[in-house]
Amino acid sequence: MQYYSTNKSAATVRLPYAVLKGLADDGGLYMPESIPQLPASFFETIHTKTLPEIGYAVASALIGDEVPADVLKKIVEETLNFPIPAVRVENDIYSLELFHGPTMAFKDVGARFMSRLMAYFNQNESRELKVIVATSGDTGSAVAAGFYNVPGIKVYILFPKGKVSPLQQKQLTTWGGNITAIEIDGTFDDCQKMAKQALGDAELNKNNLLTSANSINIARLIPQSFYYFWAFAQLREKGKPLVFCVPSGNFGNITGGLLAAAMGLPVHHFIATTNANDVVPEYLRTSVYKTRPSVQTISNAMDVGNPSNYARMCELFDHNHQRFCEKISGYAFSDEETRKAMVSVKAQGYLLDPHGAVAYLGLKEYLRESKAEATGVFLETAHPAKFREVVEETLGEAVEIPQQLQAFIAKQEQIIHLPNDYEQLKNMIDR
Ligand SMILES: *Cc1c(COP(=O)(O)O)cnc(C)c1O
Repeated sequence: MQYYSTNKSAATVRLPYAVLKGLADDGGLYMPESIPQLPASFFETIHTKTLPEIGYAVASALIGDEVPADVLKKIVEETLNFPIPAVRVENDIYSLELFHGPTMAFKDVGARFMSRLMAYFNQNESRELKVIVATSGDTGSAVAAGFYNVPGIKVYILFPKGKVSPLQQKQLTTWGGNITAIEIDGTFDDCQKMAKQALGDAELNKNNLLTSANSINIARLIPQSFYYFWAFAQLREKGKPLVFCVPSGNFGNITGGLLAAAMGLPVHHFIATTNANDVVPEYLRTSVYKTRPSVQTISNAMDVGNPSNYARMCELFDHNHQRFCEKISGYAFSDEETRKAMVSVKAQGYLLDPHGAVAYLGLKEYLRESKAEATGVFLETAHPAKFREVVEETLGEAVEIPQQLQAFIAKQEQIIHLPNDYEQLKNMIDR
């Protein structure tokens, strides 16, 4: 399998190069040249398979012989060593709980797979691999957890100052060792821009081996398709078409779902929901795509004004607005609406985090408007305790902090502060 750049001016490359490079030389994102189809027999027996078995089947179709079967199998098994249940919330509405991994956000799936694949491809390299990752809160810790203490790899996490939850900050800044947490005086978009600038900096790349751990890296996109198949395996017996609602920021998660659908997964429709940072829902409504600076919301992991994976979605839909709209509906919700949903769903007995609440709202809205007879799945992307302050303030009651998260609270933060100035970041990395 060859991978091409969405900007179409860089050469096509093989997977190891795409993974270790992160961003293509022309600034584009890598995409598989052709999308493999899974056979009908795979879907007929999918309910008899385990999550790692499904993940392995999907990964090997996409990755082919770039990784030996036993190595790939082990990577998938280590990635998916926690449950991803589809939990019934109300009639025909299920929460796909993606937060049972070590850092309790869906990013664990992509980050664990990517870190292992990267370490495998990098094993014969004598130079240190420097991984740069911009985070709106959850990516950084998932990536840190995946790479912590991996020999030959150093991680730089860029996060926006004062714009991540206190617990998220703990999860970013308390690793030490090969993980460096850098607080940028700016927004997530500034962090993402600086990370992309570093990756595209010829001088920096001459002296250093650099890569990206953001969802621009194809190694994160591939595993983010696994759990859509797994949701289908769990809900297939309901006999209704599936719709997925994905709370979106950089649109890597939903692009994983689109990839699954392109490989043959029967999905009736996708819904992309956002907070006030709604450039993609606006594009779907108006056919005009206009990025803008992000604004801060209570679902902060989705505070993205210039979503990277828009470029990949355009490829999947041949840059055709109509085709885009046939497969995806977009909705945006205010913080107030998000809080109301958290309260009303809690009254039904299910605790949502702010991101899951945005997804729940979009699913309800779509089902109401379309009157589709469908099984609706919204992706619950983080554990509510990660956003404890918002959840407690909204519901007026305490949230229990799981063991995994409590461990971070006791640890000491180690933070490097930098202004929103690329040159200073460059000097730091180039040492
Ligand atoms: C990152 C994140 C999102 C957004 O995912 P994208 O792939 O960037 O669209 C949603 N919810 C949570 C909790 C996240 O951490």
